[in-house]
Amino acid sequence: MLIVMNHEAASEQIDAVLAAIKALGYRGEPIPGSMRTAIGVLGNQGYVDDSSIRELPGVREILHVSKPYKLVSRDFHPQPTVVDVCGVRFGGQNRPVIIAGPCSIETEEQMMQAARRVKQAGGRMLRGGAFKPRTGPHSFQGLGLEGLKLLRQAGDAEKLPVVTEVMRIEQLDQICRYSDMLQIGARNMQNFDLLKEVGKLDKPVLLKRGMSATIEEFLAAAEYLLAEGNGQVVLCERGIRTFETATRNTLDLSVVPLVKELSHLPIVVDPSHATGKRSLVPIMAKASLVVGADGVMVEMHPDPDKALCDGAQSLDGKGFAALMTELDAVMDFLGV
Ligand code: PEP
Ligand code: MN
Repeated sequence: MLIVMNHEAASEQIDAVLAAIKALGYRGEPIPGSMRTAIGVLGNQGYVDDSSIRELPGVREILHVSKPYKLVSRDFHPQPTVVDVCGVRFGGQNRPVIIAGPCSIETEEQMMQAARRVKQAGGRMLRGGAFKPRTGPHSFQGLGLEGLKLLRQAGDAEKLPVVTEVMRIEQLDQICRYSDMLQIGARNMQNFDLLKEVGKLDKPVLLKRGMSATIEEFLAAAEYLLAEGNGQVVLCERGIRTFETATRNTLDLSVVPLVKELSHLPIVVDPSHATGKRSLVPIMAKASLVVGADGVMVEMHPDPDKALCDGAQSLDGKGFAALMTELDAVMDFLGV
C-alpha cells in the first residue's frame, strides 16, 4: 500500500500516518518527492484495511498494491482449481459443464421431465430453486423442503448431481441433505455471514456475481469462502445492472478471461438471467464457451409458458436439446 500525502502536508501529519501504520503492525517508509511525500507500507502479507489512515489530515490518496483477495488469486495458487461435484468436474482441462433445469421447482412431473430432458440432451447437472429470492413478496416463493425432495428425486432418477440456492444460514442443514452443490445467488453475494458459514462446509459452491458487483468485490466474496476453508468454489457470471433495459441484465463476458487471469477458480456463465430472453440464450451460451467459460447454466422448463418463474428466459426441452448439439460442436471446435 502506498499513501500519497498532500503537497503541503506538515511533518506532524506524516508522523501521524507513520504512527497509524505502526499501530496496524506494519512499517511505514517515507518517500520524499519534489512536490509531495509518499509513504510506503511494508511488512503486510496482503490487503491492508486503510480505514484508520484514510481520514487522517494531510492524506491525499491511498493506492492498494495488494488485492483484497489472496487465496482466490493466481499469484497464490497458479494452477487452476478443479471443483468436483459428484464426479462432474469444473475447471482445468475438463470439458465445460452444462447445467440446466427450471428456475423454480414446481411439481414432481415438471422436475422429472426436466431431468429427463437434461440427461437425454447431454446436460451434466440439474438445477432448480426451492427457496426463491423474488423481487416482490406476492410472487411464488418456492416450495421449500418439498422442492428440495423433488429436486433430489429427479436428480437421482437421471443420475445428475443437483444444485440449488441457499438464502439463509438456517436453511443450510436442510439443503446440504438434499443438494450436491450450494448456489449463492446474486442478491446474496455480499451476505458475508452466509458466506462465512458456507465456507465452513465441505460442499461445492456456485457463487453468482452480484448484479452491481465489481470483479474485485466478486473475488473478495469468494475469498470469504476460501478463508473459512472451502476451496470448492465455482464462480458464475449472470449479468450486471447497467443503463440498458432492453435485456434483463448486461452480460459481462469479458469477466471470464479476466477472472482466469486473476484467479484459479473455475467460472461459468448463466446467459438466462443475463439476457432475460429465450431467443438470446443459445448464442450467448455459445459465446460464453468461446471466451473460455468452464460451463454454462441455463434455465430449461418442460413448458416455459406455464412456468411460475422466469418462463420468458427458459428454453423448452426441444430448445435445450438443440442448444446442446450446438454447444457440443463449439466444444469440439475449441478442443475443450
Ligand atoms: C437463479 O439462478 O435461480 C437466480 C435467482 O439467479 P440470480 O441469483 O443470478 O438472480
Ligand atoms: Mn430464474
